[in-house]
Amino acid sequence: MSIPGNLERINDRIRAATEKAGRDAESVRLVAVSKTRPAADVITAYKAGQAIFGENYIQELVPKLAKVQEPVQWHIIGHLQSNKVKYIAGQVAMIHSVDRLSLAQEIDRQWSRIGTICDILIQVNISGEATKSGTTETEALQLIRECARLPNIRVKGLMTMPPFFDNPEAARPYFSELKKLSETIASHHITGVDMAELSMGMSGDFEAAIQEGATLVRVGTAIFGDR
Ligand SMILES: *Cc1c(COP(=O)(O)O)cnc(C)c1O
Repeated sequence: MSIPGNLERINDRIRAATEKAGRDAESVRLVAVSKTRPAADVITAYKAGQAIFGENYIQELVPKLAKVQEPVQWHIIGHLQSNKVKYIAGQVAMIHSVDRLSLAQEIDRQWSRIGTICDILIQVNISGEATKSGTTETEALQLIRECARLPNIRVKGLMTMPPFFDNPEAARPYFSELKKLSETIASHHITGVDMAELSMGMSGDFEAAIQEGATLVRVGTAIFGDR
């Protein structure tokens, strides 16, 4: 199995799932999750047409930023400590894992130093599992209202990690719950917040996520192999 071949298969499956859901092919973007994979794999995938790469760990991303000269788009998808934000300011296009105001404030502060805006998603812990990061459903609206006041971040939507990783049908209720929450938040018409993006679905369940409205699917092992 090669990275270009895997990418082609995943893109075919994304296209089929969007079609089945009656959605535009362009309404879903693939985030290739390259955590633990070498920079060479990122470059191989980029040359095969992949534009967006997701990383979890800042200490792993920083050396990759130096090694990958190609104009890829980096997204942070994992739990982020506020004291690490300064290392990635201006270098990542989106942070999917914002789950607290203090982190949003630090992203705002670091991006204001370089005078640009960072797109963020609010991570919601739909399942309520103690081990998962994310704000609660009830706190999400208040957190978004507070983020909307910060000039150097822009809230673009929501992200979630469901509790099941291989049974797509078991994950589906969590995806539809995130979609519902996103519609509720959108109905409040908060200035500067458009709720355009829903980041949900991984290697085992991205098709179910697309049926439930995902706009960003985060796929790692199905592209790069087992970690
Ligand atoms: C690792 C990871 C993924 C990718 O998972 P795969 O099962 O390898 O596709 C997606 N999202 C997050 C937040 C991750 O940490």
